[in-house]
Amino acid sequence: MGQYAGNLLCLELPQQDKRLYTFVETDGCFVDGVTVATGCSVGHRTLRVMDLGKVAATFVDTQTGKAVRIWPHAQCRARAERYAPAAPNRWRAQLEAYQVMPAEELLSTCHVELLIDLKALIAMPGGRVNCSKCGEEVLNQREVIRDGHLLCLDCAGSGYVRRTDAGQAM
Ligand SMILES: [Zn+2]
Repeated sequence: MGQYAGNLLCLELPQQDKRLYTFVETDGCFVDGVTVATGCSVGHRTLRVMDLGKVAATFVDTQTGKAVRIWPHAQCRARAERYAPAAPNRWRAQLEAYQVMPAEELLSTCHVELLIDLKALIAMPGGRVNCSKCGEEVLNQREVIRDGHLLCLDCAGSGYVRRTDAGQAM
């Protein structure tokens, strides 16, 4: 998928810069493969997991705005058996076939536009403020303003954890 995205978007991958941004639609080893092929990673802030539970990804050229979504072709498993007729089982057939099948037989693609603001997602790298309630640092413009106060999402009520101790600092 990553290599095919490079062909479709005419980008040389794996990238050394941050031009390509990738949304993967599940977590797991699939993401590691996409990371190796594209050079996009969570660490570089060029990859984001949109957890839809799908082995699919959208690749965005941040310079041109062009975006393609790629997912496994509905027939890819059936086709795999034609490419590896001597394989002892279906798993082995897929393993061998997926390495030699043309991308167009293996994958489906379409052009897409993003429904989320990629610029806001990337935001201001290095931006940092302190939450006026908990005092913790908030990066990349993830803070919100409530009644004139800068708050982290946690203190603004959109957190994902709740303290269960008495509130003493660890
Ligand atoms: Zn806070």
